[in-house]
Amino acid sequence: TMQNNLKEHLYKILVIGDLGVGKTSIIKRYVHQTYSTNYRATIGVDFALKVLNWDSETVRLQLWDIAGQERFGNMTRVYYREAMGAFIVFDSTRPTTFEAVTKWKEDLDSKLTLANGQSIATVLLANKCDQGRDVLNNNGIKMEQFCKENGFAGWFETSAKENININEAANFLVKHIIASE
Ligand code: GDP
Ligand code: MG
Repeated sequence: TMQNNLKEHLYKILVIGDLGVGKTSIIKRYVHQTYSTNYRATIGVDFALKVLNWDSETVRLQLWDIAGQERFGNMTRVYYREAMGAFIVFDSTRPTTFEAVTKWKEDLDSKLTLANGQSIATVLLANKCDQGRDVLNNNGIKMEQFCKENGFAGWFETSAKENININEAANFLVKHIIASE
């Protein structure tokens, strides 16, 4: 019957990166269409659910938001479990947050792989692009090459504040997850 053709997908998506890069803001913008300048650090782990109509199917994205300080401990292994995709976020105005990107990627890949041994689909987000792109400009970073060398499916300049490229990045990630299944 028709009903049997209607598939539902549930994907756990990690949002990781250093403290203050905008992880929580990106999720709030994407799921609740809100933005706040009030700084409130995430405590522990937060979840948000985004439902997408994907062709004739339903895709549920379970977005996992963690506090930046908890990186690289034993906590992350538990947190990463059964994730199908990830955003690694840095702040376009703070070089140290970009330097941390490869560490986040290594931590993720060392603790989580798909059943076929591949690493999960991961997209790099250069957030706060509304404040300029110092990190990208000053270092002459070739982002396409950086993504290839470090195993990112792709990258986007985003702004949670101005709502730039967040939907696009999410759709891109979902495409890659579906292709990896
Ligand atoms: P998290 O620690 O990675 O979850 O970062 P938050 O989402 O808490 O954001 C840290 C700070 O950066 C907050 O004051 C946000 O309002 C601000 N922020 C987040 N995203 C953006 C953005 O796209 N543009 C600008 N200008 N500020 C942002
Ligand atoms: Mg947060």
